[in-house]
Order: sequence, then structure tokens, then C-alpha cells
Amino acid sequence: MTATILDGRAVSRTVQAEVQAEVQAFGAQYGISPCLAVVQVQGDDASERYARTIQKRCETVGVAFRLEQLRVDVSQEVLNATIGALSADDEVHGILLQMPLPAALSSDDAVRHLDYTKDVDGIHPVNAGLLSLGRPALVPGTPAGGMELLQRYDIPLAGRYAAVVGRSAIVGRPMAALLVQANATVTVCHSKTPDLGRVLRSCEIVAVAVGRAGIVTGDMIAPGAVVIDFGINVLADGNMVGDVDAASVGEVAGALTPVPGGTGPMTNVMLLRNVLIAARRQEETRS
Ligand code: NDP
Repeated sequence: MTATILDGRAVSRTVQAEVQAEVQAFGAQYGISPCLAVVQVQGDDASERYARTIQKRCETVGVAFRLEQLRVDVSQEVLNATIGALSADDEVHGILLQMPLPAALSSDDAVRHLDYTKDVDGIHPVNAGLLSLGRPALVPGTPAGGMELLQRYDIPLAGRYAAVVGRSAIVGRPMAALLVQANATVTVCHSKTPDLGRVLRSCEIVAVAVGRAGIVTGDMIAPGAVVIDFGINVLADGNMVGDVDAASVGEVAGALTPVPGGTGPMTNVMLLRNVLIAARRQEETRS
């Protein structure tokens, strides 16, 4: 491995300490803590574990945490009403609707009841639109975390050629928009891109969010390129790997995020930062 490892664990600790200090300053100014409400429909173990992880992180930095757990057979009307009530509650600054939802429920429908100023997961169409226009928005934590890693390692983006593999609403598309905002020239690749290697070899920055282990290999990467791996894939032996074949890419790339320990640890801390950003905007508007 010759690539520099972009250490998400270390950077996330730094960002978390900054958020903690800012939460204290917010408390001193407004006499309250920023508050995150998580809406979680029961029945998915990973989602329940994630809610507990977020709760612990909130407690660490001083963000108030509220969990709205709904039964697995909850109706769309009750889910929508829960999100609507939290949106109208002045004590709640951020709302996270945990995915996945049971098949009978529509997240698009639920999000229509979400106040976009509290949308700390960046899933509301207004936030997606603001981001694509290059205006201030609440940005999904995963791509925001990828950008934060690039910035903390002083990796220049302006004027550079970048590729994003994957075009999901939560990772690929916002990552492409953020890179455009940073003045990179961006190509978005997806399942219909005929020759991925041809595109990636022409790029100095490569971000991958597909969900397929080893889809990007060293022969697809230009020497010295910076590679951000968002992929999380659990192999049959229980090991977690990214979308990038770290062994071959690590010999060619200039820098690489490891999996685990790269973009993953950044996601939660960027969520906390979004709660703080949302709380500041809401309290400034009120005062
Ligand atoms: P989605 O399944 O929503 O999107 C996958 C994208 O990959 C789609 O745009 C799809 O293209 C594209 N794709 C599929 N096959 C290919 C291919 N052969 N070549 C090029 N592109 C392809 O996934 P997510 O964006 O939600 O997640 C992607 C990965 O990131 C997953 O491993 C997920 O676990 C991980 N993730 C990590 C997070 C973190 O904290 N680090 C948080 C969220 C996700 P098309 O649009 O044409 O179907």
C-alpha cells in the first residue's frame, strides 16, 4: 500500500470535539440544547442499533435526543402525523426518519410532512434542490463527510477532474453536487456507464458509492488519484469491505479512504453537525 490513508476515525474525533464546543456555545447563547428527534419504525435490527448509536453520540456532544418508535404495522397516516407534529414542535430542531421503512410505507409520502429546515438527513426535495443550485442546504451526512475528509487533508478540488460512481439521492448525487460546488469538473457514472475504467482513469478524484465489493480496481485508477470509498459490504466471512479493491487501488492511488474507518465514521458526526446548523438557523429566525 503506497496511498496515503485518509483516516476517518481521527478526523471524525476532531469534528466531534468541534461540534461539542459549538453545542456548548449554542447553549450559552440560547439557554437550550439543540434537539434531534429520530423516527424509527420497529422491525429492523440494524435500524434499531443505529438509533442507539446516534443516541450515544448525541449524549456525548450534548445534543438532546428524542426517539419516536412506531410499531411495525403503523399506518402511513400515523407516520405522517408523527413527522408533522415534530416539524411543528419548536423544541425539536432536527428530524431523522430512519430507513428502511416496511414495504407498506412510503418515505416520499412521509417526507412531504417534514419541515425541510429540520431535515438533518438532507432527504427533502427542497434541500436536494438547494444543493444542486449551490445554495445553503442541509446536506446528507455521508457525502458531507467525504467532502470534509478531502478538505481536512487539504486535497485541492478546484479545476480538477472528478468522477462519482453511483447516483443515489443520499450519496452519489449530493457528492457530485458538492464537488461541482468546489469547482471540480464532475462526471457521474452509474449502472449504464459502459466502460467505468475509461472514465475513472481520466480523473484525479474518484468517489465510489455503489454497494458492490471490488467494483473499482487498481487498473481503473490514474496514478496519484484520490479515492473516496463510500461502499459498505459485509462479506460471507463477516468482514466489512468497501466498493474499492483496496489492495490494488492502494498501490496506484495517491490517497484512499479505508473501509472500515474512512467515510463511515464521518457520517454520524456530520449528522450531529447538521443538527447544530439547523438549530442555529431556527433560533436565529425566532430571535
Ligand atoms: P444505491 O443502491 O441507492 O445506489 C447505487 C448506485 O450504484 C446506483 O446509482 C447504481 O446505478 C450504481 N451502480 C450499480 N451498479 C453499478 C455498476 N456496475 N457500475 C456503476 N454504477 C453502478 O446505494 P447507496 O448510494 O445508498 O449506497 C451505496 C453504497 O454506499 C452502499 O455500499 C451503502 O452501504 C454505502 N453507504 C455508506 C454510507 C456511509 O456512511 N459510508 C451511508 C450510505 C450508504 P443506477 O442508478 O443506474 O441504478
